[in-house]
Amino acid sequence: MLNHVQSHRWNESVDINPLYSGLVPDGGVPRFKLPAGPMPPDAAAALIRDELILDGNARLNMATFCTTWMEPQVRALIAETLDRNIVDYDQYPQTVELEARCVNILDNLWGDPDGVSVGCSTGGSSEAAMLGGLAMKFRWRERRREQGLPVDRPNLVLPTTVHTCWPKFCQYWDVEPRWMPIQQPDYTLDPSRLPELCDENTIGVIGVLGSTQVGKLDPIERMAAELDGLQQRTGIDVPLHVDAAIGGFVTPFLEPDVVWDFRLPRVQSINTSGHKFGLVFPGVGWIVWQEPAALPKELVLSCELLGGSVETFTLNFSRSGAPVIAQYYNFLRLGFDGYRAVQQACRDVARYLAEELADIDSVQVIAGGEQLPVLALRVHPDYERRFTVFDLSSRLRLRGWQAPTYALPPNLEHISVMRLVIRNGFSRDVAEMLLTDLRREIGYLESGGRTTK
Ligand SMILES: *Cc1c(COP(=O)(O)O)cnc(C)c1O
Repeated sequence: MLNHVQSHRWNESVDINPLYSGLVPDGGVPRFKLPAGPMPPDAAAALIRDELILDGNARLNMATFCTTWMEPQVRALIAETLDRNIVDYDQYPQTVELEARCVNILDNLWGDPDGVSVGCSTGGSSEAAMLGGLAMKFRWRERRREQGLPVDRPNLVLPTTVHTCWPKFCQYWDVEPRWMPIQQPDYTLDPSRLPELCDENTIGVIGVLGSTQVGKLDPIERMAAELDGLQQRTGIDVPLHVDAAIGGFVTPFLEPDVVWDFRLPRVQSINTSGHKFGLVFPGVGWIVWQEPAALPKELVLSCELLGGSVETFTLNFSRSGAPVIAQYYNFLRLGFDGYRAVQQACRDVARYLAEELADIDSVQVIAGGEQLPVLALRVHPDYERRFTVFDLSSRLRLRGWQAPTYALPPNLEHISVMRLVIRNGFSRDVAEMLLTDLRREIGYLESGGRTTK
């Protein structure tokens, strides 16, 4: 995969559209080697634009949670600020100031009672997860060392619906994953099972505010209560980290009464993806710790290479400040009501689709925009011998729609689902087009693959 480009049987040279003859060097443009000399900027840009035509149409991509549309004004702002290096505090103190404002805005949005927190932007939730996980591991180790206890067998308790970034964290940093299965009818975990999975070597528990698989919120408040109970009974104090990659920018706006955030003292850190429902192009993510003490000092390193002294606790060093500036733009531009309106419009479309699909006997709606603007569908068991969600997905592909399908995690692995994410810009009109195609393709598959007209 790392060099998958080369596994295609490409010609050695880039194919040149006859339109550009005369603009590009004689003898062609090598595909896998640096060209010997320069070419005019228009020719280089045109060649690349042509190649990128082969990428799919992002508006028809129902798979991704990532932002695929932003306003022209902020596109211009992004272009103007792409050159700002977010770690260069000396050169770009104001960019760093905007980053700090964003952290504070999120801390406040996520109900921090005292408003004192630490946090930072990251390349996305995956980097944020690494930082959140490392902070938990270091804090656990510090506590154990103070008590003269061994520190060689840390474990992390995770729902089986977590994103790959969490098993990745465990693998990269030598932490044993302990899985909490999900179950029907809610397709989330059973919090009462949490205490039996935790012990003195548990560095933390992950709760997911909106699983990537089915878009369901874990019962974070009940998870916190179970961990409070565990501490009262046994003295074992296990922090909760909430992966709010998806829900962090939805639940506060649409369901402010759902308590999942810093209103729970058990929740020590939260991550989110600015480039999902934060409505910014890739890549920006965020992590916030409820109190500065939750971020161990050993993770913050100071660096003097760029002039003044910079305290950093990210995995990456240099990164463009533009996505952070774009995040701040959205905060100013939309405000609370604007974010709520966008998320509400998306969720309304999800609910509309769910209602219409409920009339089709052969599919079942597992998640239909109840909490997040996400739908998850399965084929009704009575129809499973006729077709699968995989068949449906390939039929939709013919019309240009990309709809991911997969089996649910262990314990529910016999159920395969299709997920549709409703993002900003997916209007009711586009939903009608999708419904028309869904109805036709489902009809086609129900009738054994014969075209009915
Ligand atoms: C997308 C996602 C991630 C990873 O986020 P990136 O921003 O793509 O790195 C982590 N957790 C959940 C729940 C996600 O949906």
